[in-house]
Amino acid sequence: MNALYNVQKANILYGKAIRDQILKEVSEEISELKEQNVSPFLMTVEVGNDPATAVYKESQRKLASQIGINYETIELSKNTSQERLLKTIDRINRDPVINGLMVHMPLPEHIDARKVQWSINSMKDVEGVTPYNMGKLFLGAEALYPCTAEAIMALIRSTGVEIKGKEVTVVGSSSIVGKPVATMLLKEEATVSICHYATSQRGMLEHHVRNAEILVVAAGVPNLIPGDWIREGAVVIDAGINRVGKDIVGDVDFEGAVKKASYITPVPGGVGAVTVAYLMKNTVTALKRQLEARHG
Ligand code: NAD
Repeated sequence: MNALYNVQKANILYGKAIRDQILKEVSEEISELKEQNVSPFLMTVEVGNDPATAVYKESQRKLASQIGINYETIELSKNTSQERLLKTIDRINRDPVINGLMVHMPLPEHIDARKVQWSINSMKDVEGVTPYNMGKLFLGAEALYPCTAEAIMALIRSTGVEIKGKEVTVVGSSSIVGKPVATMLLKEEATVSICHYATSQRGMLEHHVRNAEILVVAAGVPNLIPGDWIREGAVVIDAGINRVGKDIVGDVDFEGAVKKASYITPVPGGVGAVTVAYLMKNTVTALKRQLEARHG
């Protein structure tokens, strides 16, 4: 075979540069706020000990302390009742010192995760999970948006590729990634197809992926997308985070896709690196809006 067919082609979209740029801007905002004697405070709540949450918490804590955001986690045992958790959230909702609140997922089965997320004060909802913030996103209004969706949009924009009018496929339709990013892409006037497990069951996933000039994948299925499905020159954003043995892999067959895409995110080091920066950014945005609301 001609060796040329085997060479890597795509630009690798590492998240680090975008993350550092966001953090630089956020740090400047924090310095200005500190001159007014206010500091952002992000509280996270965890129920039970999930190993993945431990990793997220550590990277959040590190980043928060690096840029001057107070960061704490309330760790509740896995047997905590829903009522006790809701009371904890209510207390945080009313605490004027705390600006941002996120509840780590997954929650134990006896707890209704939706009820818990929807009980978060929408002004402190730094993950954009409440109906108020989701509704505003749907209507194209300013709000606190889901961090992963924002990270995906930042990575796409960083390529300079025009979104307007493009054929875009989003694989995964969860409320936290697939649906919000599809909504954001629609706002940018892309033609968006949203795929999910039933698309695969009907054997139509390949068709939609092959059509995509911009492909966003957030399904949580390792190597769901074979490299040869990727359209020549496509922008490929892989948000999947899957543990396979000791490795972390995405949802796209990276080795195959890199030969066809024009841009592709690595896993790890792509979307995830930017997502946590948006959590910090949203915490500062939340604080600023709270100050505006307080001072009229
Ligand atoms: P989810 O389980 O809530 O949703 C998965 C979606 O993928 C669903 O819409 C489902 O229908 C679809 N899906 C599942 N199997 C499929 C298949 N075979 N074919 C087509 N579609 C299929 O998951 P989620 O919370 O949206 O997370 C998705 C992935 O993104 C996970 O790997 C998760 O770890 C990762 N994630 C990454 C970040 C980040 O910052 N990088 C943040 C959140 C989630």
